[in-house]
Amino acid sequence: MWLMQLADGVRTVVTDRTGGFSTGPYDSRNLGTNVGDAPRAVARNRARTVAEIGAEAAVFMRQIHGVRVERVFAAHEGVPDTDAVFTDTPGLALAALGADCPGVVVAGDGWVGAAHAGRVGTLGGVVPALVEAMRKAGADDLAAFIGPGACGRCYEVPEEMRAASPLAMRSTTSWGTPALDLRAALTAQLADLGVPTAHDPRCTIETPELYSYRRDTTTGRFATFIWLT
Ligand SMILES: [Zn+2]
Repeated sequence: MWLMQLADGVRTVVTDRTGGFSTGPYDSRNLGTNVGDAPRAVARNRARTVAEIGAEAAVFMRQIHGVRVERVFAAHEGVPDTDAVFTDTPGLALAALGADCPGVVVAGDGWVGAAHAGRVGTLGGVVPALVEAMRKAGADDLAAFIGPGACGRCYEVPEEMRAASPLAMRSTTSWGTPALDLRAALTAQLADLGVPTAHDPRCTIETPELYSYRRDTTTGRFATFIWLT
């Protein structure tokens, strides 16, 4: 697991594949439901992870590459049709699940938020929607952290898709073909909102201890967590 301190009284953890109960292509700390893994293994992985990171409870989302933001107050195994959540409840860890899509977590003024920001969600503005919701709730001084995702040197797409994407998202693979750079696009969105951003430098496709859909197709999901201590 990978830890960082985004703000005073805030903790962020990125999980990896190790130390869980799942087997086969989900080996072993898969935190995602609906990917074909045994539900009992996922439930045990979630419970173990929440205990190990030192949170009291966790909120997971049923992510749909949308832009809906919901304020949460208590543990949830899957907030329906939601790609961003925020809370001011201490000890309640918010999870953005991914296997190439970056999780983005935001903190400030006693609030934390988490968003699942893949290509579609980033284009739709899920992270700006989260920042706006948190600011409306009273969190002015925000900072963000972008979790691991497919990097701009690996995330190959058709040329038409690159051409239709915002400039900040356009990239080229290390082998010279069209690509997208979600981290760059997200960093630009957050900068436009005045939110300073740090990131996990790891690329999911290039990092065996992280799940990658691009690399493995049938696979699990890791989480980027944030909570108030
Ligand atoms: Zn890469």
